[in-house]
Amino acid sequence: MMTPVTSFAGKSVALFGLGGSGIVTARTLVAGGASVSAWDDSEASRRAASEAGISLVDLAQCDFGAFAALILAPGVPLTHPQPHWTVEKARASGLEVIGDIELFCRERVAHAPLSPFVAITGTNGKSTTTALIAHLFRVAGRDVAMGGNIGTAILALEPPALNRVHVIEVSSYQIDLAPSLNPTVGVLLNLSPDHLDRHGTMAHYASVKERLVAASDTAIIGVDDEWCSTIAARCEAKGGTVVRLSVERELATGINRRGTEIYWTCLGEQRSVAELLGIATLRGVHNAQNAAAAIAVVSALGVSDEAIREGLASFPGLAHRLEVVGHIGRALAINDTKATNADAAGKALASFDDGIFWIAGGRAKEGGIEPLAPLFDRIEKAYLIGEAADDFAVTLEGRVPYTLCGDLETALNQAAQDAQASQAHEPVILLSPACASFDQFKNFEQRGERFRALASAMPGFVPFAKG
Ligand code: ADP
Repeated sequence: MMTPVTSFAGKSVALFGLGGSGIVTARTLVAGGASVSAWDDSEASRRAASEAGISLVDLAQCDFGAFAALILAPGVPLTHPQPHWTVEKARASGLEVIGDIELFCRERVAHAPLSPFVAITGTNGKSTTTALIAHLFRVAGRDVAMGGNIGTAILALEPPALNRVHVIEVSSYQIDLAPSLNPTVGVLLNLSPDHLDRHGTMAHYASVKERLVAASDTAIIGVDDEWCSTIAARCEAKGGTVVRLSVERELATGINRRGTEIYWTCLGEQRSVAELLGIATLRGVHNAQNAAAAIAVVSALGVSDEAIREGLASFPGLAHRLEVVGHIGRALAINDTKATNADAAGKALASFDDGIFWIAGGRAKEGGIEPLAPLFDRIEKAYLIGEAADDFAVTLEGRVPYTLCGDLETALNQAAQDAQASQAHEPVILLSPACASFDQFKNFEQRGERFRALASAMPGFVPFAKG
């Protein structure tokens, strides 16, 4: 059930960072015949690794000249804000610094170079697109191994093989640690400022993401932002095969959206592939971008339009992202707890035309909710919770009716009651907080699970039937 790493057989490597994927990497290196000296700054991580049978060596005390490479977990800074001390030591000894995706790529080249390998990156929508691609392949009857930055660490998956497709979400940190990354199909969904603390400038962040598509046999690139549009042109100029994707404007050639319809266009000729209307797990223009990318990927690898349509319709969606929980009476209950900033909450609000009963608040992020003002007319009433409630109330004053609820339970009870009397065709109770959860919850997942549990316990609740 895992991919042994044979590229360091008989050699000694240093490994730093023993979170979930670090432990898997250490094991697969050992399984492939390497000797691994593993370490982490955190005592808790060291204890977990030790319990998992990994031998620990304090790398601060080691001469790095004895190692063939430094294997780094993606969470450990390679460049910004400053290189981690292990990276400095590795550089001083002339060692390469690589991560688990790189180890996978070397294994693939050595044992199954023609095996289909799909890699997905971008600022937003990576997980949804990755899950959707995997689902479309499964519905088409393919053997799929899905993981990377989402779910299972890449080396914990089945090894690459001709009749198995790997669908891997990659963060910029992972790309930075994978110099020979060369997917069969690479996806760059979009780019906007994010994680700049770890990447320095937008230009550097974009150049890291560009490497993934530049090295792909076929590149699928969302061209609705300037950064990605420039990258698409550059990849093509270098002779790469590029499929452009836009949900905003009509392309001469590429994959497009009109309303909720996704269609191909080739030199002005159009061909419809799919209709997203009525697919509850793919609401909103942002999901049309994700769906179009997924369609382009699986089409490039031979999945039929018919299987694509069947797969789209049965996509179960991901938890916590516009997750359809069910109906409470005549209102739809939606868990979008992953929306921890105004930008993400904006995507959710834009996904429903009217009748929104909006539960928002928590630990505020910079900028507040003023940027959401153009969407305020879709909100019938807001239910404010957590630390940000008073600030949000000031922004909504005179523009959107609101009530200060304190906690999630109070907010949901009031929203559920008010929603029954709405004039909207299908009122929506939407938890899309535009805030972090840490004032009242352990993390955003716990907030979403609480919402789901509370909603499920309400009178008149009918769960959403998936697939
Ligand atoms: P990621 O894995 O890149 O964080 P997810 O698929 O988990 O992305 O989606 C996280 C949130 O990002 C969603 O809840 C939604 O608010 C927003 N989002 C999803 N897809 C897109 C997209 N294509 N463009 C912009 N925002 C998106």
